[in-house]
Amino acid sequence: MDNVCKILPVTKIIVETASFDIQKIKNPKINGEEYQQGEQLNFWNVREYVLFRDNHECQYCYGKSKQNVLNVHHLESRKTGGDAPNNLIILCETCHKKYHEGKVKLKQKRGQSFKAETFMRIMRRAFFNKLKEIYPAVNSAT
Ligand SMILES: [Zn+2]
Ligand SMILES: [Zn+2]
Repeated sequence: MDNVCKILPVTKIIVETASFDIQKIKNPKINGEEYQQGEQLNFWNVREYVLFRDNHECQYCYGKSKQNVLNVHHLESRKTGGDAPNNLIILCETCHKKYHEGKVKLKQKRGQSFKAETFMRIMRRAFFNKLKEIYPAVNSAT
């Protein structure tokens, strides 16, 4: 995307969120096999996905602590809850420590497992927001 903008005088970018293919954007050289795996989230490590989903923001203080070290916290213990994205949440190190010291309570509970569609909807929105930060001229076609 950066390269394109260097070569062409891009003033308006339209993102077709309905047909958006995040996997191809992330890795343009993706081939058939990787693409299949990608549908099972293997293409993206779970931590990166969760960071993306939570907007790189602590889900307790939403940046108020000014702590920029982010941790991935397991809502249920890793042993019982596993590493599925719906069991993970982004907390800044400050809030994360406080949580484990029993000083703060989280309102988030372990979520339902995402259906593929829900996942793609979240990713599209997250990607679109990111793109808009970089290229304010971006427009959604939908
Ligand atoms: Zn925090
Ligand atoms: Zn934790």
